[in-house]
Amino acid sequence: MSDDDPQPIRRAAVLVAAAREILVLTGAGISAESGIPTFREAQTGLWAAYAPEDLATPEAFVRHPERVWGWYQWRRALIARGGVNAGHRGIAQLGASRRVFVATQNVDGLHAAAGSRAIAELHGNIWRDRCGSCGATVDNKVAEPDTQDPAYCHRCGTMMRPDVVWFGEMLPTEALRAAESALARADAVLVVGTSNRVYPAAALVDAAIESARPVIEINPRPTGVSHAVDVRVADSASRALPALAALLDEAPANG
Ligand code: ZN
Repeated sequence: MSDDDPQPIRRAAVLVAAAREILVLTGAGISAESGIPTFREAQTGLWAAYAPEDLATPEAFVRHPERVWGWYQWRRALIARGGVNAGHRGIAQLGASRRVFVATQNVDGLHAAAGSRAIAELHGNIWRDRCGSCGATVDNKVAEPDTQDPAYCHRCGTMMRPDVVWFGEMLPTEALRAAESALARADAVLVVGTSNRVYPAAALVDAAIESARPVIEINPRPTGVSHAVDVRVADSASRALPALAALLDEAPANG
């Protein structure tokens, strides 16, 4: 059976068509298709001298706040340039006629931009700043590299930080609970563009497999859970998800 075999996507469509609620777990792979470099691949040019671990930690922010600000500006610019792709749109299309909950490890905000409505951002959102002292948050839509000085909290004067999860930090409790609750309700789980190695987000995939819910993996490359999923679609998100949505539009929504 070749990777071009149409059967896996059709089997996936049968499982999703029978589901009343669908949980979609996404990772860096779906946004990489927008040309947005993954966390590690973003280390080019000016930033090649730094490891992500030296920029995405609370300690790095204390030591070199301007540098960390600059790196996040750079990453916002890359995201703005990449934009949503057919994979993000395909998930939004699924949600137009069915109950779909998206839990993502991506901080780029592209699921919302594509039109998905129920989303848990497990690693935060790069388009929002947060005060590390008082917790105030404020949108930050600046996507031009090297133009923005660090912002300070309007409440307490502390320098703001990006509202993302850094190395060594906990995931936002509310987002994680929402994802776990969506998993408990879901009748089918789609795992898209994630290597399933980053915990605790990867634990949701493990739990889905253990719970005997149908699990469909969409990933051009095999991952650590490929052997355990019900259907493996060996294709890119930007090809497989629109195809899946089109197959489902031919089938009546359930409930
Ligand atoms: Zn504050």
